[in-house]
Amino acid sequence: MNARLEVDLGAIEANTRSLVDRLAPRGIRVTGVTKASLGSPGVGRAMIAGGAHGLGDSRVENLTRLGAAGIDVPLTLIRSPMTSQVDAVVRHASTSLNTEISVLEALSRAASRLGTTHAVVLMVELGDLREGVVASDLVPLALDVAALPGLTLAGIGTNLACQSGVVPDQTNMCELSRLADEVERAVGARLCVVSGGNSANVGWALDSPDTGRVDDLRLGEAILLGLDPLTRLPIAGLRTDAMALAGELIEVRDKPAQPWGVMGEGAFGAPGPRPGRGLVRQGVLAVGRQDVELEGLRPPSGVTVLGMSSDHLVVDLGDVTAAVGDELRFGVGYGGLLRAMTSPFVDVVELRATGLLARDAGTVEVPGASSSRSRCSTVPGAP
Ligand SMILES: *Cc1c(COP(=O)(O)O)cnc(C)c1O
Repeated sequence: MNARLEVDLGAIEANTRSLVDRLAPRGIRVTGVTKASLGSPGVGRAMIAGGAHGLGDSRVENLTRLGAAGIDVPLTLIRSPMTSQVDAVVRHASTSLNTEISVLEALSRAASRLGTTHAVVLMVELGDLREGVVASDLVPLALDVAALPGLTLAGIGTNLACQSGVVPDQTNMCELSRLADEVERAVGARLCVVSGGNSANVGWALDSPDTGRVDDLRLGEAILLGLDPLTRLPIAGLRTDAMALAGELIEVRDKPAQPWGVMGEGAFGAPGPRPGRGLVRQGVLAVGRQDVELEGLRPPSGVTVLGMSSDHLVVDLGDVTAAVGDELRFGVGYGGLLRAMTSPFVDVVELRATGLLARDAGTVEVPGASSSRSRCSTVPGAP
């Protein structure tokens, strides 16, 4: 049997609910980010059932998949559109994150041609050095958007941590709030969206004495893995078992703990030292780097990961009783999750191990948000 990625939709719903319920009193909505699941409609629905007000994905193909499955919450493209894809973006996303005027002009033409409006969130660079315009370019760009037909300025946002590991804190988040005020004064309209960032913002958002104007977070890893990307430690109250990779043992032999012979590099660089001495019960699974990453791979208790090449995962089975043909289940990190979802050799199986009652996504009220909602009624797909 192929390796299998088991996705527990109940755990995803529970994690979303936990975050939504703790962030709502702080005036922050959750946009569930589905990109690590390649825009799986099952994952998207679980996030919506857990209270996510919309879904985001970095690839328009994934948003198209969500839309084709009949999901009708606001869909946001969270990567700047490719100029070559603006038609598809306008068709399949209600909103996109943007930084480039030429792309915005192309979106404007596409929206006009298709007789619709497209909402725009402008991304500002606050130090992590990935996407975003520097603060001094934000107001001029916002004024440009306000003047373009077919586009509405939904708001502003930023993204930290992903590229350089810059931590979202009171300083950079206050700067985002200040910029929201500045843009509003310049364009003379209320912004519906001040999107503070990704899963790396959760710690700040839950602890901050004042979350300012931030009213949205785009959350993937925290929901899917229950981990804080800044530390890769579990976030309190979240389940870390929503994703598991099951692989099949194809060899189980007692072997020396240590290799012998003259040593050069392995298939993927110099291997680290192997632990142990004497004989070990070594297992080889039909899973490799084509299917998952070594980093973040969590073996079952009593089992130690010894190494992995393209198609073989080698473990020390310790005292665990397992025979050829048996399966072992591993936890995965974010990179491993991406790869498992993308590998043609891994079957993705969505299940519901816990019978959580699905609640209606529409029932979560954000305190204090209703007035800004009504003033933002021109934005397509706005809550
Ligand atoms: C991937 C991504 C997210 C979600 O990141 P997580 O760490 O998985 O929460 C949010 N925003 C942008 C722009 C992204 O690219």
